[in-house]
Formats: sequence, C-alpha cells, structure tokens
Amino acid sequence: MEKINCNVIQDILPLYIDDVVSDDTKELVEEHLQNCEICQRVYHETKADLENDMKLSAQTKESRNGANDLKNFSKFLKKRKIKTILVSIAATVICFVAVFTFMNKHITYINYKDAGITIVEDNEDEVAYKTNIRGNYHWNTSLDTETGVGTIHFEQSLWEKYVDSIFYPFDHIHSSLKKDEIKEMYVDKDGTTTTIWEAPEEEQKAYLSEEHTEPLG
Ligand SMILES: [Zn+2]
Repeated sequence: MEKINCNVIQDILPLYIDDVVSDDTKELVEEHLQNCEICQRVYHETKADLENDMKLSAQTKESRNGANDLKNFSKFLKKRKIKTILVSIAATVICFVAVFTFMNKHITYINYKDAGITIVEDNEDEVAYKTNIRGNYHWNTSLDTETGVGTIHFEQSLWEKYVDSIFYPFDHIHSSLKKDEIKEMYVDKDGTTTTIWEAPEEEQKAYLSEEHTEPLG
C-alpha cells in the first residue's frame, strides 16, 4: 500500500507543484511528503525540473520574439524599399513632365540668318527653298493675294531644337512657292523683313496689272 501511495503521490507531484490540485489532495500530498524521504527527493527534483523547463520555454519565447522582430524589420525594410522605388518613379515622371512642358512652352523666333535659307530650285512655275534649321520647327505664313506678297516666320521650341534635332536632319526642303500666286516672300517678325525670293521686276509689274489688282465688282 505504501508503495502504491508513493507512485500516486509522484504522479500528482507536477500538478501539486503547479498548484492546480484540490485542497484535499494538497493536504494528502503534504502529509505524505512529511513522512516519505523518497517522495521528498522526487518532489525537489521535479520542482527543479519544472522550473528549468519554464525558464527554457521563456527563453525560447524570447528568442522567437527576437526572430519575429527581425522578420518584421526586414518586412519593414522591404516596404520602405518599394516605397522609395515608387517615390523615385513618381519624381522622375514629374521631372520629365515639367521639363517637357517647359521645353515645349519656351518658343523662340528663328531669324533669317539662323534659318539658313537657300533657294534650291527656281523654274518657270515655282521656287523651292530649304532651311538649315537644326531640329524640328513650326511656322506661320500669310499671303496678300492683292500684291502677291507672302511672309513667313519660323519658330522653334527648346524641345524641337534640342530633342527633335536627334531625329530631324538639318536640311529641310521647306516649301515651294507657286509663281502664279506669290511674287515676293519674306521672313518676317515684328516688322523686320528679309527677302527669301522676289520675282523679277517685269514679272511683278505683269502680276500687278493682272486681275489681282482690279477693283471688285
Ligand atoms: Zn512516498
């Protein structure tokens, strides 16, 4: 009976140490421990073991937390990295749009000299000329049908000058002037004019004596 009692007590000991037994059981265990050296020894060993286990599990938990912290930190870094990349892309796009807008809005007039105009063809019907403008450009023209006087002025944005110039050659055949419509052609801006081409005087006289100058009606 004594032996069975010891086994029972030793089975209960962990619960007793954890303090999860009823008061009756507690009393029973304590009474037995006072009279049994073997169970006392087992009690101390078990208690030490359990305390050790608790310490270990606490440590494990701590180190697991540490690992989690590291994981979270690397996640945080990854998020930050993605954020940095996105911000960089956005900044680049904004910069590009700003530069593009500025370069397209900044328009300068190309004067006669810089336009590098040369007549490349002058036959019975038409005059063709080319420009030597670097890059792309645009222009405004006007033609006075009464007198046959045409004006043109060339303009260029920074974008056309410095970016489009990568794709456009310098030599542009610009335009052909129809001799039956145009007698003089000027590069014009703010009243400053330079002649591109002028019909011989007798042709101009002939032109002016034709129906162009006759009063309407
Ligand atoms: Zn015992």
